[in-house]
Amino acid sequence: MKQILAGCLAALALAGCAQEADQPVAENGEINIYSSRHYDTDLALYEDFTEQTGIAVNRLEADADALIEKIVSEGEFSPADLLITVDAGRLWRAEEAGVLSSVESEVLDERLPDYLRHPDGLWFGLSTRARVIIYNKDAGRPEGLNSYADLVDPAYRGDICIRSSSNIYNISLLASIIANRGPQAAREWAQGVVANFARDPQGNDTSQIESVAAGECRISVVNTYYLARYAGGDEQSQDIFDSIGVIFPDQDGAGTHVNISGAGVVKNAPNRENAIRFLEYLTSESAQRYFADGNNEYPAVTSLEANSAVEQLGEFRPDTLNAAEIGRNQAEAVRIFDSVGWN
Ligand code: FE
Repeated sequence: MKQILAGCLAALALAGCAQEADQPVAENGEINIYSSRHYDTDLALYEDFTEQTGIAVNRLEADADALIEKIVSEGEFSPADLLITVDAGRLWRAEEAGVLSSVESEVLDERLPDYLRHPDGLWFGLSTRARVIIYNKDAGRPEGLNSYADLVDPAYRGDICIRSSSNIYNISLLASIIANRGPQAAREWAQGVVANFARDPQGNDTSQIESVAAGECRISVVNTYYLARYAGGDEQSQDIFDSIGVIFPDQDGAGTHVNISGAGVVKNAPNRENAIRFLEYLTSESAQRYFADGNNEYPAVTSLEANSAVEQLGEFRPDTLNAAEIGRNQAEAVRIFDSVGWN
């Protein structure tokens, strides 16, 4: 913070600085990161990068939509170099808002699989999370439940707890179904899931996990990192983890829906070259482990393994639909959710 304030005083001419003392300011090639991730491991990465390169890293943390809004309002004088956020849907919002710029990097192209990179280099996926089906082990593995499509089977009437449709993870999942199976099938799917609800959508992924563990509902759909948090914790957490069965959907089809934590270089980045360097650094082996472990995610560099809590969930084949396509279908997904009464 001291560093940021000093930068601010030295650069009062920069837009926004005078009004907001806690805003990172570009100075001497320092990079300014706007991030909606807030993990201690990310901080360790910033420090390690500075140690390796001498390039200081300032960060501003806030909700993704607020950060995008801020970059828009700062306009061409924005001090932001890099936007880090989670979910293809939010990266899409950033792309739509016109705040990202195209990056070409052989290092990034070589280290990251195609589907985790924006086709024009507007953003790069740095870690992934899978949206899996979970069930209560005491009630037994639901017979015939192997894909997202199977969730509409009337055999599961009254069994499914899931969070609301305003949640971006569900929007992205439905967006992937639109891409894979078309809007009509996606609509029928959403309608079928609503018909199997155990209760009106409520709570976050964590509360779905605890409801399934407590036997309040048999089946849910959650992101892997929420589950991994219960592994190796206190006895109560471990009990919850042990009572949950995991199904990686669509292993015989498109693969399990995955989403990303990702970053893009900001359109008017004052320190563009260093921002690219930082992105490349984040795909190095040690940085990848830190970045993914900070939130129990899978490293985007697919030759690397996730931490042991995540690996315990099992191996799977991801859906390699490009995250840009998931972004593109967000609006349609929201329309479908509304039309079928998935609140
Ligand atoms: Fe989350």
